[in-house]
Amino acid sequence: MAAKKWVYRFEELNQAQQYVGGQWDGVRGLFGGKGANLAEMQRIGLPVPSGFTITTEACNAYLQAGGVFPEDMWAQVTEAMAAVQEATGKRFGDKNNPLLVSCRSGAKFSMPGMMDTVLNIGLNDTTCQGMIKLTGDQRFVYDAYRRLIQMFGSVVMGISDEAFERVIEKAKHKAGVMLDTDLAATDWKAVTEQFKTIFRSHTQVDFPQQPEEQLKMATEAVFKSWNGKRAIDYRNAAGIAHDLGTAVNIVTMVFGNMGSDSATGVAMTRNGSSGDPKIEGDYLINAQGEDVVAGIRLTQDINQMAAEIPKAYEELRQISATLEKHYREMQDIEFTIEKGKLWMLQTRDGKRTAQAAVRIAVDMAKEGLISRKEAVQRVSPDQVDFFLHPQFDPADIANARSQGRRVARGLNVSPGAAFGVVAFDADLAEAWAKNENKKVIMVRPETKPDDVHGMLAAQGILTSRGGRTSHAALVARQFGKPAVVGAAALQIEMNKREMTVGEDIIREGEWISIDGNTGEVFLGELKTMIPDIKDPWLIDLLAWADEFRTLGVWANADYPDDARRAREYGAQGIGLCRSEHMFFEADRLPLFQKMIMADLPVDQRAALDDLLPFQREDFAGLFRVMDGLPVIIRLIDPPLHEFLPDLVELVLELTDLKLRIRKAATLVEIDALLQQIREKEALRRRAAKLREQNPMLGLRGVRLGIHIPELTKMQVRAVFEAACLVTREGIKVFPKVMIPLTAHANELKLQRETLEKEARQVMAEQKIEIPYKFGTMIELPRAALTADQIAGHAEFFSYGTNDLTQTTYGISRDDAEAGFLIEYMERHILPDNPFATLDRDGVAQLMLMGLIKGRQVRPDLECGICGEHGGDPRSIAICHELGLNYVSCSPFRVPIARLAAAHAALKEETDG
Ligand code: PEP
Ligand code: MG
Repeated sequence: MAAKKWVYRFEELNQAQQYVGGQWDGVRGLFGGKGANLAEMQRIGLPVPSGFTITTEACNAYLQAGGVFPEDMWAQVTEAMAAVQEATGKRFGDKNNPLLVSCRSGAKFSMPGMMDTVLNIGLNDTTCQGMIKLTGDQRFVYDAYRRLIQMFGSVVMGISDEAFERVIEKAKHKAGVMLDTDLAATDWKAVTEQFKTIFRSHTQVDFPQQPEEQLKMATEAVFKSWNGKRAIDYRNAAGIAHDLGTAVNIVTMVFGNMGSDSATGVAMTRNGSSGDPKIEGDYLINAQGEDVVAGIRLTQDINQMAAEIPKAYEELRQISATLEKHYREMQDIEFTIEKGKLWMLQTRDGKRTAQAAVRIAVDMAKEGLISRKEAVQRVSPDQVDFFLHPQFDPADIANARSQGRRVARGLNVSPGAAFGVVAFDADLAEAWAKNENKKVIMVRPETKPDDVHGMLAAQGILTSRGGRTSHAALVARQFGKPAVVGAAALQIEMNKREMTVGEDIIREGEWISIDGNTGEVFLGELKTMIPDIKDPWLIDLLAWADEFRTLGVWANADYPDDARRAREYGAQGIGLCRSEHMFFEADRLPLFQKMIMADLPVDQRAALDDLLPFQREDFAGLFRVMDGLPVIIRLIDPPLHEFLPDLVELVLELTDLKLRIRKAATLVEIDALLQQIREKEALRRRAAKLREQNPMLGLRGVRLGIHIPELTKMQVRAVFEAACLVTREGIKVFPKVMIPLTAHANELKLQRETLEKEARQVMAEQKIEIPYKFGTMIELPRAALTADQIAGHAEFFSYGTNDLTQTTYGISRDDAEAGFLIEYMERHILPDNPFATLDRDGVAQLMLMGLIKGRQVRPDLECGICGEHGGDPRSIAICHELGLNYVSCSPFRVPIARLAAAHAALKEETDG
């Protein structure tokens, strides 16, 4: 039997494809993203240096065996090296024409900077001389050699990088220069020798001179880096599985530091922040790759290449277009130009902000690169959510600017507004955010992979160095954190835990605000506001989503302003107006309390008559805004005691009044106090009488309507009077009256008969016929189980999944999420919080049963959902599968629901 293949040359992509059953995703799994794309670029004729990939399977086998290469792997590496030597005409370790290679990690999913890389492998005291003869450039060769010792020392042997950096700082000081690039050949030669000494003193061994030994050790280090702390942290945060392993890519070195016709750079084929279809990125003439990424030298805007190295720039532009066409996706590329020759070192799908994701998807569909369906599928509901995130209030920004509170400006690499207290390191940022619930802005000169935990915990990220492709920018974008990087005016003094900007000193713990849209940094806390979603690309994308979705998207809205916003965001109706919310308003609450307190029917009637005009006007406002779209008005649901003051507070107030009587000076004063005591005492008695042990299971919903029919009759009268009023104004109205918390068909029958009679009476009085419907909420298991009986009296169902989850699980919706559910989530006892995401196996089964039974009796029964789940993408997918007619959610979730509903429909289309 042939030995297992652990190593593939880039030319062997076909074999790898066969091995994984022709799946491109399988190749990525085997080669890692970097290796797969290098091989693919080579296949489509782009300039890629010769190389090969050691597979992720080899990494897993190595780790499982406790750090031993699998049998035959190294023999295959040697064979692949021979092929590379053949292709390049160079030999590994050859003293005249040495081959140098890089050894880089590359997992299936990109984990920027999380694992290790060693460059210039193959250099030693001998090959170094060969290289000098070959290039005639001593400076370049010693610079490359010292880089190998430095990277190998830190990555493979764990020597702190600072030990090496200190030597370079001293050398610059001695030579009287500022920049690394100004050091001469002799300086680098001396630095190289000192690096060897550092290596020896830290490891007790000499820097390995054998190229093969260097390669072996570097390969092991990359394999091991898969299980390094920062890689594990990153995977946990990004939801990447821990058993994928990393591949190792061994690639012939090409050099961007061979003079002024050499360069190195990173670029995105489109702008990763705005989505603008122009290449963006950074490059450096006469430099090696890590100089750009590390932000040590001030990089240049990629578009300056057009003037500086026009031929290479044009080639890069064409390659960008080829790559986008090939991958049908925006790419993030790395390249090097060695003496005028362009080499591609990496391509991968580019990270982007939510805005950029939307714009890129829409532009690409318009450019014909992808279909509209794909465009819709490429944007996640979370990315749409981002458009609804707080931004700073423009008026407050203007204020802050005029007050001189804008202290710095950097690059606007990840949008959104964030404010918080300054924390200068990741551990503190995490501790403050997690343990003290503080809002934190993490501020660093630049971020490193080790900082990710702090970045995740922070509200936003601010750095004084780095560019659009810096680590801080990439990570912030990926996790949707507002970020400003490269705010060079900030002088961060880590030892003093403060930063200075001009005259201002900002100490750790003080408040700042950062604007990821503009790159501005402000002192103090700025007011935030919710933006309008007027982005033209988002509007197009959501319009396309609407073409594909079959599920309606309605909104839960109680007031005309909510309804207006809901319509602006694309809602097609109101699925829930919680009519009792209007009773809580300051001018209505006393009237409502009067109604509750009334002992005599006439007093109750009078209070209800006073409330009627308010409700009528509220409903008329909603009908006007919705202008012909359906509006579901849910009749009063909560138990009455919720409208009365808290019992304990009442007792305290009474005690206080009684004490004040003792101190009262006049009879008039005493009389007034006695009157107050009588009123409060009556309230207390009433509240005590209405008090229930389990109010959630008490006198609420339809039960309350049956108990006080005058109350729900008043509400129905208000609905129909409003409908008639608005109809007379020439506006179409479709009111739907919804009766909550039905458990038994008889309750619904009784209440509906009473209420429909009232509705007919109003229409007769007004001499107008309004098209209307009566329906019910299905929010108790019994209602779902007997939906056929209930459907006999309901023209529509709306699933109240907040209560349905509460009663199906038997857990309190008011307490559980702050109580034991936290532990359940942490210990993965439940897959999800059932109040956030529909419980597919339980609650959704009841919904399905309700649908089937209900539609058996009434085939055209309209069924929707108005619990919080109606705005949750995963729950929306379940609603689509169940066959609901619509979801109803908060106005702010409407755009998200539109996209999620389209995703669900398109998934069904693909899955068949
Ligand atoms: C529900 O129970 O899901 C619902 C929408 O009603 P409420 O939240 O008002 O009880
Ligand atoms: Mg409910």
